[in-house]
This record gives sequence, structure tokens and C-alpha cells, in this order.
Amino acid sequence: RTEENSNFIKTIIVEDLKAGRAKEIVTRFPPEPNGYLHIGHARSIVLNFGVADEFGGRTNLRFDDTNPVKEDVEYVEAIKEDVKWLGYEWDGLFFASDYFEEMYDRAVLLIKKGLAYVDDSTADQIREMRGTLTEPGRESPYRNRSVEENLDLFARMRAGEFQNGQKVLRAKIDMKSPNINMRDPVIYRISHAHHHNTGDKWCIYPMYAYAHPLEDAIEGVTHSLCTLEFEDQRPFYDWVIRECEMPHVSRQYEFGRLNLTNAVMSKRKLKLLVDEKVVDGWDDPRMPTISGFRRKGFTPKSIRDFITATGISRGSGAVDARMLDHYIREDLKLAAPRTMAVLDPLKVVITNYPEGQVEMLEIENNSENPELGSRSIPFSREIYIEREDFMETPPPKYHRLYPGNEVRLKSAYFIKCEEVVKDEAGNVVELRCTYDPETKSGTGFTGRKVKGTIHWVEATRAVPAEFRLYEPLIYDEDGETDPDAEAAPAGSLEAEGERLAGAAGADKSFLNRINPNSLVTANGFVEPDMKDVAAHSKFQFFRHGYFNVDPKTSAPGRPVFNRIVSLKSSFEV
Ligand code: ATP
Ligand code: MG
Ligand code: MG
Repeated sequence: RTEENSNFIKTIIVEDLKAGRAKEIVTRFPPEPNGYLHIGHARSIVLNFGVADEFGGRTNLRFDDTNPVKEDVEYVEAIKEDVKWLGYEWDGLFFASDYFEEMYDRAVLLIKKGLAYVDDSTADQIREMRGTLTEPGRESPYRNRSVEENLDLFARMRAGEFQNGQKVLRAKIDMKSPNINMRDPVIYRISHAHHHNTGDKWCIYPMYAYAHPLEDAIEGVTHSLCTLEFEDQRPFYDWVIRECEMPHVSRQYEFGRLNLTNAVMSKRKLKLLVDEKVVDGWDDPRMPTISGFRRKGFTPKSIRDFITATGISRGSGAVDARMLDHYIREDLKLAAPRTMAVLDPLKVVITNYPEGQVEMLEIENNSENPELGSRSIPFSREIYIEREDFMETPPPKYHRLYPGNEVRLKSAYFIKCEEVVKDEAGNVVELRCTYDPETKSGTGFTGRKVKGTIHWVEATRAVPAEFRLYEPLIYDEDGETDPDAEAAPAGSLEAEGERLAGAAGADKSFLNRINPNSLVTANGFVEPDMKDVAAHSKFQFFRHGYFNVDPKTSAPGRPVFNRIVSLKSSFEV
């Protein structure tokens, strides 16, 4: 699959430029500020910014805030941060609500042209008259109001004379259209609600399906890239731009949503996880949000590379989440220092090592990348090893430590297990070993070989640390199917209701599939140098995988590490 083939939008743009249908490419990323961005949004971001960058065009960040939603401001800031972090700079920063006046004027124009009318029907009546895929719709009794009456009523809607739901403004198109979206969609509704940007200025709000094409046209967007569930709304999109006589004509193109296995992605469901305290906020490392991936330790490059590799198509099957792991391993393989961490410590006393003596051993920071140099780590009579690196009665082929066996301590000496110390309950609490000074790493010792190498940290200087190990939050091999695949028709009050509903409207059944082991915490030790590691520093811990210093909970002298990924996976790209 070539790059070109994997992004059919690019092919369209190349042709539009060649044919002179577009001179400069203008795209937009239009999030609704009703939640944090997730990895699905990254596809839209990479696509919109990517194609504009490639063809010397512009991309706007536009907040689609035509709904008076409460928590907007927090989300606006979080979205800006995430887009920047992913590595993109917007040209214009806009709020759809800044265009309310123009949208209103264009609606008045539609009324004057006999293409919009005020309807007193209830939401239920409107739905009932809309018909179905197999049955044509019926015309509302209010459909033939005069232009004068409509102008008067619409002005009074704006002036606040009516209650929520008492009246709507509808486009007058065709109740018999085979496309339900064209059966006189609602374009304005009454909502006496405070808006984060416009305050109490408005009590009527444009419907998304009417607002979006106007926003695009006002900004001179050439290619309005949206997800597949909007395909059936394209005729109405074109109708709005044409009939509202917008000087600029934007065109809509649809691509498939990105879904991941073992993840829910719609903001409503993610908000539910936050509100029900299943996770510790939108940036919990188990969340498929951009901020969650950042906190877990993913890099912007790994996410961009992953998105590019998944391609842009019109399909929307779920992508294996482990594919993402591949790209972060690739990004960190040479960049992250490789150090030793013991997650489940077992004390080892080296009985023939002089008491009180500490020696410094030289160890390379990344065996595959000499540019990272080396560091010194202390070695002494007492060390910690991983509890699973010792077995009292080993199974066949176990080459790590057991009574009488000798192993190599990574970058140090061979040690041999001489004695096992247990507590009253019979638990192993300490090992007594001897070391052989001749076997020091780097001296070229060839006298004998051992089969196992284990990692360790010197006990008296080791830094206590917490390690957080993650598994998928939700088990669902298929991932989420299109949350909006069966979206209510454009301009239907149900569609707007769903947009307004927030978490309250989400299907909660996925909460039954929460993995109780999605977070396992371990307390162990890291090397002395790592006492005050900076937030977001990334390491490869021998055998355990890649880790990120948690920016929220790490404290000086007591770092907390989030595991980004283990070292290997069964998944190959
Ligand atoms: P959700 O249903 O998850 O809340 P949304 O589509 O309502 O997502 P918006 O904030 O409206 O979210 O989306 C901003 C842009 O990102 C839109 O153009 C939308 O089509 C796109 N987008 C959202 N989710 C995905 C996804 N999973 N894959 C690709 N693009 C997406
Ligand atoms: Mg939305
Ligand atoms: Mg949605």
C-alpha cells in the first residue's frame, strides 16, 4: 500500500489543484468542546493539518460551540494544548458562536426566499411527520405561513417571547425526499441557556447541520473533512451553502472513523468513565485520550506515525491497539536510557563482599545507541533483585537464581546462591550469595559461563519508586463500532438532543466490561541517579519495558513510573 493510496483525500486535493477548482487548500479541525480529544480525533487532526501543510495551505482550529454546553472552557484549553502537543499550529482560532449573527441573517434570507418557516409543532409531532426510509414524510400544517408571518415569528423567537420547544425554524425543502435529511430539517431551536462565549445574548441556537456548512464557508474552507456518518447530510450541506448565497463554496468529504480494539472512544462514554470515577480524570493513562496517552508516556511522533500507518480510507474497522505500541517502541528504542528497576524486590547479601565497601561500575546507557554515553552505578554487599528471578525449586530450563546456581548480575559480577533465609511463615525474605571477583563485567573473564543474567540495584542507595502497570481498561476485541453510525437525521431534534445529552445519554452497558486489573501498582526500587527525574522522562527498564515519569504523582525522592509498553508484543506491523 503506497502512501498516496492510503489517503484518498490527498488524491482529491491533487486533482482539485490541477483542475483549478481550488487555489489554496483550507481545512479546519472542528472539535465540539464537550470533552477531551481522543486518539480518533488524532486521525482528523493529522489529516486536516497534514494535507494543508503538504500543499502549502492553511488549517483553522474551530470550536464547534453552537450548543450552550456548560463546561466548555476547560475543554477549550485542553483541546488547544493537545493539538499543539501533537505538533500542529493552527492558522486561525475561531469559535462557531462568533458567527451567530451572520447565521441569523442567513436564516432571515432563507425566510425571505420562501425557503424557511417557523413551525409550532412539538418535537414528537415533527418526528412523526418526518416519515421513514420507506415512507415519505408529511407536510406540517405550519409549512405555508407567509414570509411576513415567518419573519415576525422568527424575530420574536430571538427576542425571547417563546418557551423552549414552543417553536422551531425549519428549512423548506422536500418532505418526500428519499433522503430523510432533506425533509425540512430544523435549523433553529429555542434554548434559554447561558452560552460560555455569547452569555445570555441568544435564546435561539442554530442546529449543527445548518451551522457547520456556514462556518466552513465563512472561513473559506475548501475541503471540509468529516467522518462517514455525515455522508447523508452532504446534500443538505450543499443546499445551505447554495441557498444562503455564501460567496465561498466549501465541499464536504467523508472518511472513516478510527476505532481501537479494547477501547471506547465516544466522548460521552469517556465522560461517563470520568464522572463515575472509574478512572482518575480525562488524562488517566488508561484513557484513549490524547492527554491519557501523553501521561502514559506516548510521544507525539509515535501517535502521528501510528495515524499515518492506519491510512485514511472510507472504512472504519477497529485498529488493533497493539499497533500503537509498536510505534512508541520504535520511537524510544534508541532515545530512552536503559536502566535497572526492581519492581518486586528481594534482598541479596553477598557474604564475601567486604562490609562497608562500595564500588562504582560503568554501564552504557543504551547498548544500541553509543551517543547516550554511560553512567556509574554503585555496587556493594547488599543488593535487590527481582523476586521472580529466584526460585527455591526451579522448573526445568530455569536459568536464573536457585540454591547452588550461579548467574550474572547485569554489568557486575557472577553470584552464586548459597543460602535461603525465610521468615516464620516460610516466606523467602533474603538470599545469601557469594560473588567471584574474577568475573567482573568488562574484564574479559572467560573462565566459565552462566546461562542467566539478572538485573539488580544496590540496596543502600536505591531510590524507592512506584510502578504502575496497565492493561486494557475495557475488554472488547471489536472496539467500538461507529457511535454515530445510526445517527438521527440532520436537523432533527433528536440529533441535537444527543449532542446536548452529554454523559447522561450514553449507553452504560460497557461499564460491565471494565477490566478489574487495568491498573496494578508495584513498589520497588530504581537506581540512585533517578531520585529526582523530571516529569515525562522516559526509560527502558531492563526486562520490564518502557516507562514514563508520571507528571502528576511523582514527588522528589519518590518517583512514580507509568509503564508505556512492555518490551515485546506478539503483534507485528
Ligand atoms: P465523539 O463522538 O467521540 O464525541 P465527535 O465526532 O462528536 O466525537 P467532535 O469534537 O465533533 O467529536 O469531532 C471533531 C472532529 O474530529 C470531527 O471532524 C470528527 O468527525 C472528528 N472525529 C471524531 N472522532 C473521530 C474518530 N474516531 N476518527 C476520526 N475522526 C474523528
Ligand atoms: Mg460531535
Ligand atoms: Mg459524536
